[in-house]
Amino acid sequence: MKLSEHFTLSEFTVSQTASRYGYDNTPGETEIASLRALALNVLEPVRTQFGVPITISSGYRSLKVNKKVGGSSSSQHIKGEAADIQVWGYDPVTVFNWIAFYSGLDFDQVIQEFGSWVHVSFTERRPNRRIALRARKSGGKTIYDRITEPLDMV
Ligand SMILES: [Zn+2]
Repeated sequence: MKLSEHFTLSEFTVSQTASRYGYDNTPGETEIASLRALALNVLEPVRTQFGVPITISSGYRSLKVNKKVGGSSSSQHIKGEAADIQVWGYDPVTVFNWIAFYSGLDFDQVIQEFGSWVHVSFTERRPNRRIALRARKSGGKTIYDRITEPLDMV
């Protein structure tokens, strides 16, 4: 099923964890509508900006899959509102900076995760918050720092 010009539903639902443990990772209609909104409002503009494909390493997660990967119980991945992305050939910091500070896009949260990928979310349940965070590990725990200006390249 195509969600938008460059994104199909299966890109958001494929999960190594689901395959490995035999978990169902099929979203319902509400979650599919949310994934479509994320694709149209955020991911397509990102693709247009950088002009290259985007790899989605995690999109929708069923409750079981989310629990298994250690996701927060309030994760927007469960609602189909979030995706972890990598833009081919671009540093995650560049992608994060563009979404957070230059794009003018309506997004809910964008997180630069450990210098490796970008988590971005979009919601239609309430106004989007445009929160920019950086996730890092400290003593085995994940710390989220609020980011208010573009990050330097690492
Ligand atoms: Zn994520």
